Amino acid sequence: MNAKDTSVSGLTKGIEFLFKKNNVEYIKGTGAFADEHTVKVNLVEGGETSVRGKNIIIATGSEATPFPGLTVDEKKVVTSTGALGLKEVPKKMIVIGGGIIGLEMVSNKNGARSARNHKTDL
Ligand SMILES: Cc1cc2nc3c(=O)[nH]c(=O)nc-3n(C[C@H](O)[C@H](O)[C@H](O)COP(=O)(O)OP(=O)(O)OC[C@H]3O[C@@H](n4cnc5c(N)ncnc54)[C@H](O)[C@@H]3O)c2cc1C
Repeated sequence: MNAKDTSVSGLTKGIEFLFKKNNVEYIKGTGAFADEHTVKVNLVEGGETSVRGKNIIIATGSEATPFPGLTVDEKKVVTSTGALGLKEVPKKMIVIGGGIIGLEMVSNKNGARSARNHKTDL
Protein backbone atom coordinates (compact mmCIF):
# COMPACT_ATOMS: atom_id res chain seq x y z
CA MET A 1 0.00 0.00 0.00
CA ASN A 2 2.79 2.41 0.92
CA ALA A 3 4.59 1.65 -2.34
CA LYS A 4 1.38 2.26 -4.32
CA ASP A 5 0.67 5.53 -2.47
CA THR A 6 4.28 6.67 -3.01
CA SER A 7 4.04 5.93 -6.77
CA VAL A 8 0.72 7.76 -7.15
CA SER A 9 1.93 10.75 -5.17
CA GLY A 10 5.26 10.82 -7.08
CA LEU A 11 3.52 10.70 -10.47
CA THR A 12 0.90 13.33 -9.64
CA LYS A 13 3.46 15.68 -8.06
CA GLY A 14 5.62 15.14 -11.20
CA ILE A 15 2.77 16.36 -13.37
CA GLU A 16 2.22 19.40 -11.12
CA PHE A 17 5.93 20.23 -11.50
CA LEU A 18 5.71 19.96 -15.32
CA PHE A 19 2.62 22.21 -15.35
CA LYS A 20 4.53 24.86 -13.36
CA LYS A 21 7.63 24.55 -15.51
CA ASN A 22 5.62 25.01 -18.72
CA ASN A 23 3.38 27.79 -17.42
CA VAL A 24 0.24 25.66 -17.51
CA GLU A 25 -2.40 26.93 -15.09
CA TYR A 26 -3.62 24.04 -12.90
CA ILE A 27 -7.02 24.47 -11.29
CA LYS A 28 -7.97 21.72 -8.83
CA GLY A 29 -11.70 21.06 -8.53
CA THR A 30 -14.80 19.50 -10.02
CA GLY A 31 -15.86 21.07 -13.28
CA ALA A 32 -19.23 21.28 -15.01
CA PHE A 33 -20.24 23.08 -18.19
CA ALA A 34 -22.09 26.35 -17.64
CA ASP A 35 -22.36 26.84 -21.42
CA GLU A 36 -20.48 25.55 -24.49
CA HIS A 37 -17.47 27.81 -23.85
CA THR A 38 -17.49 28.01 -20.04
CA VAL A 39 -16.61 25.48 -17.33
CA LYS A 40 -17.61 26.30 -13.76
CA VAL A 41 -15.23 24.74 -11.21
CA ASN A 42 -15.94 24.00 -7.55
CA LEU A 43 -12.44 24.44 -6.16
CA VAL A 44 -10.88 21.83 -3.88
CA GLU A 45 -9.77 24.56 -1.48
CA GLY A 46 -13.30 26.04 -1.42
CA GLY A 47 -15.09 28.57 -3.56
CA GLU A 48 -15.59 28.43 -7.30
CA THR A 49 -14.21 29.89 -10.49
CA SER A 50 -15.11 29.91 -14.17
CA VAL A 51 -12.80 29.14 -17.09
CA ARG A 52 -13.61 30.09 -20.66
CA GLY A 53 -12.20 28.64 -23.87
CA LYS A 54 -12.99 28.63 -27.58
CA ASN A 55 -12.39 24.88 -27.64
CA ILE A 56 -12.55 22.62 -24.57
CA ILE A 57 -11.20 19.06 -24.33
CA ILE A 58 -13.11 16.76 -21.98
CA ALA A 59 -10.68 14.22 -20.50
CA THR A 60 -12.59 12.94 -17.48
CA GLY A 61 -11.61 9.30 -17.94
CA SER A 62 -13.97 6.39 -17.40
CA GLU A 63 -15.89 4.76 -14.56
CA ALA A 64 -16.59 1.11 -13.78
CA THR A 65 -19.89 -0.08 -15.29
CA PRO A 66 -22.51 -0.66 -12.55
CA PHE A 67 -23.39 -4.35 -12.19
CA PRO A 68 -27.09 -5.25 -11.61
CA GLY A 69 -27.75 -6.54 -8.08
CA LEU A 70 -24.38 -5.53 -6.64
CA THR A 71 -23.76 -2.35 -4.69
CA VAL A 72 -20.15 -1.24 -4.81
CA ASP A 73 -19.01 -0.24 -1.30
CA GLU A 74 -15.27 -0.28 -2.17
CA LYS A 75 -14.74 -2.60 0.85
CA LYS A 76 -16.21 -6.00 0.02
CA VAL A 77 -17.54 -5.28 -3.47
CA VAL A 78 -14.84 -3.22 -5.13
CA THR A 79 -13.98 -1.69 -8.47
CA SER A 80 -10.37 -1.82 -9.67
CA THR A 81 -9.80 1.44 -7.73
CA GLY A 82 -10.99 -0.14 -4.47
CA ALA A 83 -9.06 -3.35 -5.24
CA LEU A 84 -5.84 -1.35 -5.44
CA GLY A 85 -6.61 0.08 -1.99
CA LEU A 86 -7.30 -3.26 -0.19
CA LYS A 87 -5.16 -3.48 2.96
CA GLU A 88 -4.53 -7.21 2.56
CA VAL A 89 -4.74 -9.83 -0.18
CA PRO A 90 -8.11 -11.64 0.12
CA LYS A 91 -7.96 -15.44 0.47
CA LYS A 92 -10.59 -15.79 -2.25
CA MET A 93 -11.94 -13.37 -4.77
CA ILE A 94 -14.23 -13.33 -7.79
CA VAL A 95 -13.36 -10.95 -10.62
CA ILE A 96 -16.26 -9.96 -12.87
CA GLY A 97 -15.09 -8.92 -16.30
CA GLY A 98 -12.58 -10.77 -18.44
CA GLY A 99 -10.88 -7.73 -19.93
CA ILE A 100 -7.29 -6.68 -19.45
CA ILE A 101 -7.82 -5.16 -15.99
CA GLY A 102 -9.82 -8.18 -14.78
CA LEU A 103 -6.97 -10.43 -15.87
CA GLU A 104 -4.45 -8.11 -14.25
CA MET A 105 -6.41 -8.23 -10.96
CA VAL A 106 -6.40 -12.04 -11.00
CA SER A 107 -2.69 -12.30 -11.70
CA ASN A 108 -1.82 -9.53 -9.21
CA LYS A 109 -3.68 -11.34 -6.46
CA ASN A 110 -1.62 -14.50 -6.83
CA GLY A 111 -1.38 -14.49 -3.02
CA ALA A 112 -5.07 -15.37 -3.01
CA ARG A 113 -5.65 -19.11 -2.70
CA SER A 114 -8.49 -18.91 -5.16
CA ALA A 115 -9.29 -16.28 -7.78
CA ARG A 116 -11.83 -16.78 -10.54
CA ASN A 117 -12.35 -14.54 -13.50
CA HIS A 118 -15.78 -14.40 -15.09
CA LYS A 119 -16.48 -12.97 -18.51
CA THR A 120 -19.99 -11.62 -18.12
CA ASP A 121 -22.14 -9.91 -20.73
CA LEU A 122 -24.51 -7.32 -19.29
C1 LIG B 1 -6.39 -0.93 -12.61
C2 LIG B 1 -5.94 -0.23 -13.88
C3 LIG B 1 -4.71 -0.55 -14.44
C4 LIG B 1 -4.27 0.06 -15.61
N1 LIG B 1 -3.05 -0.27 -16.10
C5 LIG B 1 -2.59 0.35 -17.20
C6 LIG B 1 -1.29 0.08 -17.71
O1 LIG B 1 -0.55 -0.72 -17.15
N2 LIG B 1 -0.89 0.73 -18.84
C7 LIG B 1 -1.70 1.63 -19.47
O2 LIG B 1 -1.26 2.22 -20.48
N3 LIG B 1 -2.93 1.91 -19.02
C8 LIG B 1 -3.40 1.30 -17.90
N4 LIG B 1 -4.66 1.58 -17.44
C9 LIG B 1 -5.50 2.48 -18.20
C10 LIG B 1 -5.13 3.91 -17.91
O3 LIG B 1 -5.12 4.15 -16.52
C11 LIG B 1 -6.18 4.78 -18.56
O4 LIG B 1 -6.31 4.45 -19.92
C12 LIG B 1 -5.77 6.24 -18.45
O5 LIG B 1 -5.58 6.60 -17.11
C13 LIG B 1 -6.86 7.09 -19.05
O6 LIG B 1 -6.39 8.42 -18.93
P1 LIG B 1 -7.38 9.59 -18.98
O7 LIG B 1 -6.58 10.85 -18.85
O8 LIG B 1 -8.28 9.45 -20.17
O9 LIG B 1 -8.34 9.44 -17.69
P2 LIG B 1 -7.97 9.37 -16.15
O10 LIG B 1 -6.55 9.00 -15.89
O11 LIG B 1 -9.07 8.58 -15.51
O12 LIG B 1 -8.11 10.90 -15.72
C14 LIG B 1 -9.38 11.55 -15.68
C15 LIG B 1 -9.32 12.60 -14.57
O13 LIG B 1 -10.47 13.44 -14.67
C16 LIG B 1 -10.96 13.68 -13.35
N5 LIG B 1 -12.37 14.08 -13.44
C17 LIG B 1 -13.47 13.31 -13.70
N6 LIG B 1 -14.58 14.07 -13.71
C18 LIG B 1 -14.19 15.35 -13.45
C19 LIG B 1 -14.87 16.61 -13.33
N7 LIG B 1 -16.19 16.73 -13.49
N8 LIG B 1 -14.12 17.71 -13.05
C20 LIG B 1 -12.78 17.62 -12.90
N9 LIG B 1 -12.08 16.47 -13.00
C21 LIG B 1 -12.78 15.36 -13.28
C22 LIG B 1 -10.74 12.37 -12.62
O14 LIG B 1 -10.75 12.59 -11.23
C23 LIG B 1 -9.35 11.98 -13.16
O15 LIG B 1 -8.32 12.58 -12.39
C24 LIG B 1 -5.12 1.00 -16.27
C25 LIG B 1 -6.36 1.33 -15.70
C26 LIG B 1 -6.78 0.73 -14.53
C27 LIG B 1 -8.14 1.10 -13.93
